[in-house]
Amino acid sequence: MGKDSIQLKSQTILDKMSDTSHEQLIFCSDHVLGLKAIISIHNTVLGPAMGGTRMWNYTSEEAAIQDALRLSRGMTFKNSIAGLNIGGGKAVIIGDAKKIKGEKLMRRFGKFVNGLGGQYWTAEDVNMTMQDMEYIRMETPYVAGLPEKMGGSGDPSPITAYGVFCGMKACAKVVYGTDTLAGKKILVQGLGNVGSYLIELLVKERALILVSDIFEDKIKRITERFKVTVVAADEVYRADIDIYAPCALGATINSQTIPKMKCKIIAGGANNQLEDEALHAKMLQDQGILYGPDFLINSGGIINVYFEQQGNYHRSKVLEKAEDIYKMTTDVINFASVNNITTHQSALNIAAKRIEDFSRLKSPTFK
Ligand code: NAD
Repeated sequence: MGKDSIQLKSQTILDKMSDTSHEQLIFCSDHVLGLKAIISIHNTVLGPAMGGTRMWNYTSEEAAIQDALRLSRGMTFKNSIAGLNIGGGKAVIIGDAKKIKGEKLMRRFGKFVNGLGGQYWTAEDVNMTMQDMEYIRMETPYVAGLPEKMGGSGDPSPITAYGVFCGMKACAKVVYGTDTLAGKKILVQGLGNVGSYLIELLVKERALILVSDIFEDKIKRITERFKVTVVAADEVYRADIDIYAPCALGATINSQTIPKMKCKIIAGGANNQLEDEALHAKMLQDQGILYGPDFLINSGGIINVYFEQQGNYHRSKVLEKAEDIYKMTTDVINFASVNNITTHQSALNIAAKRIEDFSRLKSPTFK
């Protein structure tokens, strides 16, 4: 299923795609509207590729390509380990959402998605709203995460947060012998959609919550609702906590941050938390920190939109499937321990095995 991390610098894009088994990378441009987007389809063995669209003011095209490749590959494993019959894909739009996002831009992007004829289905990711999905829907049926009034499944973030909560509890059970989070010091980094819903669940559980964000308005919105301790963004990694829940952007777990960490568990909603998957998963293991693999424990959101995409949306079924994250996290931790591998590698192996089994089903080996 390809290598562990994606570094673009020394290789051509096609070499990199080949190395990490990506199927397609589609560049979309409209110079009049200022649309610059990249759709990355990693693997379609299990079904059409599905994964959200992220809008971000990337510092370079290379950074955007790298993000699209990493995120779409993550979706392949996420969709597989969640037991969904969809492949991995993701899209990124380059630009400042506050400045250029609007109906025309989103509809133009929707036309590009439509051009792929259902090979790629989109939904929300960072800086995308249900309103944006509505605009995309005007141009293509290949979009989920639509508002409930349109027959959609609504905002996926509460289910993502619920899945993270279940995964976190499974990790706690292994580390502390009990899955109650009451009294545990938990730092939630990133107070957006997922982070806020996760805090709501942790408050009910009577955890001691610490929070951090780079924007004052996000912090204010949380401190007005909940009793939490605010931690400065540059103090997050050295904080004296039990559990670190990354719910902002990726690559926060790296060679600079790990040595500072005092937590026993990492379980959060952000995608691609490990800067270098193999290296940093191993560093966490060596430091005695239990890592709840991101693509497993944040799969609640894709579970939610998957049921919508299948035309079979029932909230109770979605919650039931999201609760499976607890058991799967336990299985992944046990498999890692039996095979003396990291939890991240364990989750990758289980996800890759399901894809391999399905690919054999599609084209059996001949003798
Ligand atoms: P969001 O944009 O609503 O929230 C992200 C928050 O992180 C914002 O408040 C932002 O200010 C903050 N942030 C950014 N950089 C930060 C930093 N360095 N330190 C502290 N805070 C920082 O996004 P979201 O929908 O909540 O998604 C959060 C993460 O979860 C993303 O990585 C996303 O890919 C992942 N994810 C989201 C879903 C979902 O259902 N929304 C599903 C799966 C994975």
